[in-house]
Amino acid sequence: MTIERLSELAYYRTGGSCARIYLPESIDELTDAVREINKLSLPFFVLGGGTNSLVCDDDWPGAVIALARMQGLRTLDDQGSIFCEAGVDNSVFAKFAADEGLNGAGWMYRLPGQMGGTVRMNARCYGGEISQIVKRVTCVDPGGKIVVHEDTANIFRGYKDTSFMRTGEIVASVEIQLQPGDTSATQDLMKFCEDDRVMKGQFLFPSCGCVFKNDYTVGVPSGMLLEAAGVKTLTHGGAAVSPLHANFVFNKGASSRDILELSLKMREAVYSEFGVWLEYEMEVLGNIPADLAARIKEQRPHHPVDHNLNALREKFQARPVK
Ligand SMILES: Cc1cc2nc3c(=O)[nH]c(=O)nc-3n(C[C@H](O)[C@H](O)[C@H](O)COP(=O)(O)OP(=O)(O)OC[C@H]3O[C@@H](n4cnc5c(N)ncnc54)[C@H](O)[C@@H]3O)c2cc1C
Repeated sequence: MTIERLSELAYYRTGGSCARIYLPESIDELTDAVREINKLSLPFFVLGGGTNSLVCDDDWPGAVIALARMQGLRTLDDQGSIFCEAGVDNSVFAKFAADEGLNGAGWMYRLPGQMGGTVRMNARCYGGEISQIVKRVTCVDPGGKIVVHEDTANIFRGYKDTSFMRTGEIVASVEIQLQPGDTSATQDLMKFCEDDRVMKGQFLFPSCGCVFKNDYTVGVPSGMLLEAAGVKTLTHGGAAVSPLHANFVFNKGASSRDILELSLKMREAVYSEFGVWLEYEMEVLGNIPADLAARIKEQRPHHPVDHNLNALREKFQARPVK
């Protein structure tokens, strides 16, 4: 397969070309790829499903390792252990587990992305978090050495935070622990997850899910701050905020620059209305244009506008719990 542009691999459907692309099918091929990249002294980044990432428009003079071909998936015993390679799609994994009579992964159904990226991001939804079910992670470190992590408490550091964000280790495979039993509640959960995401319009256009993280010290989810700051009508070029979820930016014919410019406007709107400085969840990969890089990385302390925030906190507390 020849990849002309990274937009062919990225879920957001944007992104320029790269100097070299590696599509390993096994951990040995992944290790070889990393070693070769090191020999060539190339910068590189990793792409899973690209569902939490934005690949920049400019051509990338380095390498990209895409893990979509690492597809190993099998049960290890009859006690709920599953071996899963990094490139396995979350929905494929959730369905496989349920079909094997195992509970604990239903929440992953229709969560876009692959197992490796999901572990690196410590993804969570519908009451589940990947940290709850991973018991061993096998990685390749940036030097091309295989590292096995048995102690997952050292990996998962809390909300959307893992050690891999600092070490740069590439997740090659995981061992997952689920519970054997009657899966009817799991099947119901899977249907609920699918229906809920469809109802919320999450698959109408390419996106990266939530652009910004929640900050639990604020007391209001970022999506609610964004909506109250009036961003739902904002656009930039072909990028538009989802009318159904103010933390989602849709690609409706956008470049990566359009998406970034729009996200900057959104962050500014929240800061000016509430004094809350949102942190990006979206990972920006590749060649970030210099004028945007500084703006994206900018940090400001929260400067809470209490009278505006308190009204929103009350509204959030009073919402009906589903
Ligand atoms: C419609 C939609 C809804 C979403 N809803 C949710 C949600 O409810 N909850 C939630 O948590 N997220 C959500 N997301 C975000 C996304 O689905 C998850 O973060 C997903 O787990 C990312 O997986 P990925 O393979 O696509 O990661 P990618 O976007 O490919 O990668 C994310 C980061 O991890 C790195 N990476 C990728 N693979 C590996 C690997 N094997 N080893 C090491 N690093 C790697 C990349 O370099 C990048 O920095 C949503 C996204 C979309 C598009």
